[in-house]
Amino acid sequence: MSESLTFSQLDLPEPLLRAVTELGYETPSPIQAAAIPKLLAGEDLLGQAQTGTGKTAAFALPLLARLDPAQNEPQILVLAPTRELAIQVAEAFQAYARFMPAFHVLPLYGGQSYTNQLKSLKRGSQVIVGTPGRILDHLDRGTLKLDKLRAIVLDEADEMLRMGFIDDVQTIMDATPAGRQVAMFSATMPSQIRAIAQKHLKNAHEIKIESKTSTVERITQRYVMLDGNQKLDALTRVLEGEEYDASIIFVRTKSATEEIAEKLGARGYAVACLNGDMNQANREQTIRRLKASQIDVIVATDVAARGLDVERISLVINYDIPYDSEAYVHRIGRTGRAGREGKAILFVSPRERRLLRTIELATRQPIEKMSLPTGQVIEQRRIESFRELLANTIEAKNLSFFQDLINDWREKLETTDADLAAALLFMAQKGQPLNVAGQFPEIREPHARGERPERGDRPARTGDRPERSGDRPERGPRPPRRELQGNYINYRIEVGKEHGVRAGDIVGAIANEANIDSQFIGNIKLFDHFSTVELPGDMPTEVFQHLKKVYVRKQKLNISVDSGGPGSERGERPERYQRSGADRAERSDRPDRGAPAAGTGPRPGAAPKKPRTREGS
Ligand code: AMP
Repeated sequence: MSESLTFSQLDLPEPLLRAVTELGYETPSPIQAAAIPKLLAGEDLLGQAQTGTGKTAAFALPLLARLDPAQNEPQILVLAPTRELAIQVAEAFQAYARFMPAFHVLPLYGGQSYTNQLKSLKRGSQVIVGTPGRILDHLDRGTLKLDKLRAIVLDEADEMLRMGFIDDVQTIMDATPAGRQVAMFSATMPSQIRAIAQKHLKNAHEIKIESKTSTVERITQRYVMLDGNQKLDALTRVLEGEEYDASIIFVRTKSATEEIAEKLGARGYAVACLNGDMNQANREQTIRRLKASQIDVIVATDVAARGLDVERISLVINYDIPYDSEAYVHRIGRTGRAGREGKAILFVSPRERRLLRTIELATRQPIEKMSLPTGQVIEQRRIESFRELLANTIEAKNLSFFQDLINDWREKLETTDADLAAALLFMAQKGQPLNVAGQFPEIREPHARGERPERGDRPARTGDRPERSGDRPERGPRPPRRELQGNYINYRIEVGKEHGVRAGDIVGAIANEANIDSQFIGNIKLFDHFSTVELPGDMPTEVFQHLKKVYVRKQKLNISVDSGGPGSERGERPERYQRSGADRAERSDRPDRGAPAAGTGPRPGAAPKKPRTREGS
């Protein structure tokens, strides 16, 4: 957290400040506080930041401030590695520019129809957000003009490198006017990224938010991996399934404190919110009520919860991930007060996984993965707390009036004490049934899309250089050995070296179209007329059918399971595909792997099995 800085101190124009306030942002995140003044001043910037730190607003706000609203041609170009990120960034621009008249942002990514993109391009947009392949296509076709460009942003530059897009990025950079401003964001800074920065950035400011290491004791820390839309459901489960006296839930925006407090209130929780809009008297009253156990749950922003010291708080829930490790340590420090034990739970989306690791490194403590309480656990806890309430009532209250009633009813209704008790229990459940059967379906961990490998940057899989004639695979730089987990199948796609395809094009198209993270795309071999690529064998039929229709370098992929046998146009099998007899026997024994239905998608039985390791040439 930036201690005292506010958005209004950042010299942003009024329409942008208004948008930020409406979105419920209270203070700039550390990367925003550092980057916004530099970019507003027109300087180039190299920022080391990962998803979850607020990096999108860190570049979008100052670049929007420098936009010429009268000019309807592309002035800002953002390059992003995936369609998903391009859409997200375009949406962020739209949200921040909501009070800028005649503002247009256009996302451009592969897989979308060219006709629609061309129509939108003709209409004119000041901001273009796109994946490198599609942007390059439009530049080649002359349908995207960058001569009025004022700024270019490379978002997740290391990811673009990892996906093999970096040559395209360089080509696009070279096609931009000399005086444009450059902002480059990358979670890691491998040498190739530094080299690009050195070549294209002028006197760039480098921003890295240092994570101060600090230790936190007596606090059990766990995390849950989920998508944003699963959070509310997960929150209510955690609140029901975990033991705690009082709990504080941290979110990013004022609006979220109100929204979540309202939803929890509707579910019967004694809850209040704490945010920067509240005056001191309100804030103090809320804290008094928390201390007096009139409230058990607080939903707060970082700023509002600063310095909060309430012994009862035994559970901290990080509903939105904090911007950095410092904010994390501050948040979880709201529990474990006065020598007590505390628990902290962090909600993380797959894209924020890297930030989770940064926090672990800074606190020098592993944060353990947890699974959400199941329906069974919740049922158990509801039953226990009811029993406790019953025991307390029997002990503390004078029940003679009610006992007389029971005696009377037993006779009049000709029933038993057990039946009477059961019926009363049934009626007493209200909104919290004791039998939860079917009410809590499993919350599944999201698809791995957007997760990044923990370490290192993978070079593009194959080189782009033309090789010897004949349909031999290109070798290029040797990829690192990598275990591909799960069941992989070799697929054939109908685009090859003669069409000018590069491994990066294939990774990009498949990552975007099949929603498969690039790390789950295995070896790619480029032949003259076609290519082969290793992909998970459990690809859903719809995705497989969709991939058939995707175009790369103007060729329809027409993906099929690679038969790979002799007599195919590649001739001799390349050496590194040959397996020992034992290996083949072991593989053919494997059971069917749940790939798409026969006749529609790939049939695993017919497919050559995935090599277990990347076999370097
Ligand atoms: P990013 O790291 O750019 O992907 O942003 C992550 C999330 O943080 C997005 O949902 C943003 O809307 C949100 N966000 C960014 N900056 C702020 C801020 N200063 N205050 C509150 N939320 C923010």
